[in-house]
Amino acid sequence: MRILVVEDDPDLNRQLVAALGDAGYVVDKAMDGEEGHYLGETEPYDAVVLDLGLPVLDGVSVLEKWRRAGKKMPVLILTARDRWSDKVAGFDAGADDYVVKPFQMEEVLARMRALLRRSAGHATSELTCGPMVLDTKSARVTVNGTAIKLTSLEFRLLSYLMHHGGKVVSRTELVEHLYDQDFDRDSNTIEVFIGRLRKKLGVDVLHTIRGMGYCVSEPDNAK
Ligand code: CA
Repeated sequence: MRILVVEDDPDLNRQLVAALGDAGYVVDKAMDGEEGHYLGETEPYDAVVLDLGLPVLDGVSVLEKWRRAGKKMPVLILTARDRWSDKVAGFDAGADDYVVKPFQMEEVLARMRALLRRSAGHATSELTCGPMVLDTKSARVTVNGTAIKLTSLEFRLLSYLMHHGGKVVSRTELVEHLYDQDFDRDSNTIEVFIGRLRKKLGVDVLHTIRGMGYCVSEPDNAK
């Protein structure tokens, strides 16, 4: 899952990027509205953390422009405590949720998890596929109740496929959502990681759809 943070306060920006990175997301950052708007329009993010008070272009305008351009990614806005009208303007512009400053990082992370799973159509924090369970809250994966140890990239890969369970995800899409903008992307490495994941999971839930991509589905539903 790839997230964009648009926040002009350098400390807060750094804290958000670090916390989201620690939580297993790939994170890009922008320090003003113009840069943020550009990234959100050109890169495929799974969600965005957007401050409303931004230099160059304010957050509400950024959001309005994205939505007008048909960008549907979930957006969590950051608002100042005494500005209820900001929340209203934010929601009217297309925000999905908000957090009031100053906030606890745990709240941002919890709201982000909820936004990501809701936008993928999941009601709970545990994503299940046959004998495999991925807990988005603890970032743990179990197969038949046994914990599977995964590297952060393996987890990101599996998490993305699980969030889009039952759908075929292309290699290009995976590369775009698993690496940040500065990464030298090579879609051939995805096949290697898929192979390692299959070995670690030991159950037949990770399917290659020839010429199209990959799909997580229960062993019985293998296509
Ligand atoms: Ca600000």
